[in-house]
Amino acid sequence: MTFVITQRCCSDTSCISECPVDCIRPRPEDPEFQTAEMLFIDPDTCIDCGACADACPVDAIYSEFDVPEEMGRYVGLNAAYFERHPLDSSMDGMALGRRRLPESLGTLRVAIVGAGPAACYAAEELLSLGKVEVEIFDKVSAPWGLVRTGVAPDHQETKGVANMFATAFRSEAVNFHLNVEVGKHVSLAELLEHHHAVIYAVGAASDRRLGIPGEELPGSHSATEFVAWYNGHPDHAAGEFDLSGERAVIVGNGNVALDVARILTVDPDQLARTDIADHALTALRESNIREVVVLGRRGPVQAAYSTSEFLALGYLDGVDVVIDESEMVLDETSQAVLDDPEVEPSLTLKMEIAREYADRPVTDGNRRIVFRYLVAPTELHGTDRVSSLEYVRNTIDENLNAVATDETGSIETSLVLRSVGYRGAPVADVPFDEARAVIRNDRGRVEGLSGVYTTGWIKRGPRGVIGTNRADSAETIAMLIEDFEAGQLTAPAGSRSELSALIAERQPELVDKTRWGVIDAAEKAAGTPLGRPRVKFLSIEELRATVK
Ligand code: SF4
Repeated sequence: MTFVITQRCCSDTSCISECPVDCIRPRPEDPEFQTAEMLFIDPDTCIDCGACADACPVDAIYSEFDVPEEMGRYVGLNAAYFERHPLDSSMDGMALGRRRLPESLGTLRVAIVGAGPAACYAAEELLSLGKVEVEIFDKVSAPWGLVRTGVAPDHQETKGVANMFATAFRSEAVNFHLNVEVGKHVSLAELLEHHHAVIYAVGAASDRRLGIPGEELPGSHSATEFVAWYNGHPDHAAGEFDLSGERAVIVGNGNVALDVARILTVDPDQLARTDIADHALTALRESNIREVVVLGRRGPVQAAYSTSEFLALGYLDGVDVVIDESEMVLDETSQAVLDDPEVEPSLTLKMEIAREYADRPVTDGNRRIVFRYLVAPTELHGTDRVSSLEYVRNTIDENLNAVATDETGSIETSLVLRSVGYRGAPVADVPFDEARAVIRNDRGRVEGLSGVYTTGWIKRGPRGVIGTNRADSAETIAMLIEDFEAGQLTAPAGSRSELSALIAERQPELVDKTRWGVIDAAEKAAGTPLGRPRVKFLSIEELRATVK
């Protein structure tokens, strides 16, 4: 018997260090780690101990006999990975720091700006080193960043990673300073006065634009705003999305696009059992949207969505996935990619799934998610709001780039959501690379600023899944520790209590760890009678009422 990794894999790699026979791949040091959609278990080596399943923060690992029917294909997918990448245990274990700081150096004090996954993995890594004190700052009044406000509400298991962080951060070594904005309530210089080091883990707060006429029309939004709205992000809770039309168009076909397509089409009764924001649930119950069209500028072979998320769409109740046969006619270059004997099994499966969708009949009365490929929007039309999207057909050149043809077309729609990628925003007092939209850094050390570091999307760009941040943060912490041990970090002049007093004076409505504990418990308690994991408090008034 073997264990099998399935759809929800977050690539966190917690399982790898638990495996007594080292049969989970790829590891962070393997070249394939940067591009693999998930981790896999070698069925020929697995000794069926179950340790990986216990360690997995998102419950993605099953015994092969317990794999849910809709995930049955992962048994073969795990095995197929090792046909392409035979197990080689010759490399040393993970190149992540897992040692103790010398007592003689005293307590290392670090401020982390941001409370999302990259920040939390950095804090976890610091905690594993011994005598540390970590202060986590976020301008939002709740922790966990995109785990709380980005992961779709119908993917509750993925949010399980927050439980792992919450358990680790029970330690008094970690403090929260939420609802506190660095650069407004406290400066970088002040943080450096109170810490050996400051780590920026602020993510990619902005999104890429289409740059086409009509993009500013009402009815045209970024998917980022829509996701933040249905997830109850306080800055976006008041957003308004017109769901009165029958068709929405999503530009871009990554996993965020698939999240949005699912939320717009699944039965709201299913979402009512999640932590979706109440205002979004009400709006989705009243929605007239029957069809969501997902546009990709390249072909199905180059589609950005992961195989697992694409496969899962096919199991949605009351939703048909529609792909016209003509979309499956491949150009020579894409066909050659598929015919390559070295092709990744997950890509082969992705195409198999697309062909199955193309062959499936549709059911009267079902909502639809329609995939269109080789299509790029050129203009949004409408007088006072969006009424249609004009597009050009693309072809694929020998370098697998999309190239526009003369063929054009139009899709009637009243809602356009662009989902063409996140983008980092400049951070006050820190050097910023405008072209790459990241903080200028070398392996996490911020250029020209001693004691300042960065991790996550604002360090490397918006790539990878939640767990990808673990290795990234480990690299940053390794640099920080190297500098600390070399005596290159200035010892803090101010104490921890002086810092807390300063923050409390500047921001009386700060949410510290105790206050967050009260809010967290109250949100969960509000969800219990409704069969929901929590009911999110969105406004500052709700929060005030909870923590007074
Ligand atoms: Fe490794 Fe045990 Fe998981 Fe098999 S079940 S992959 S041996 S940890």
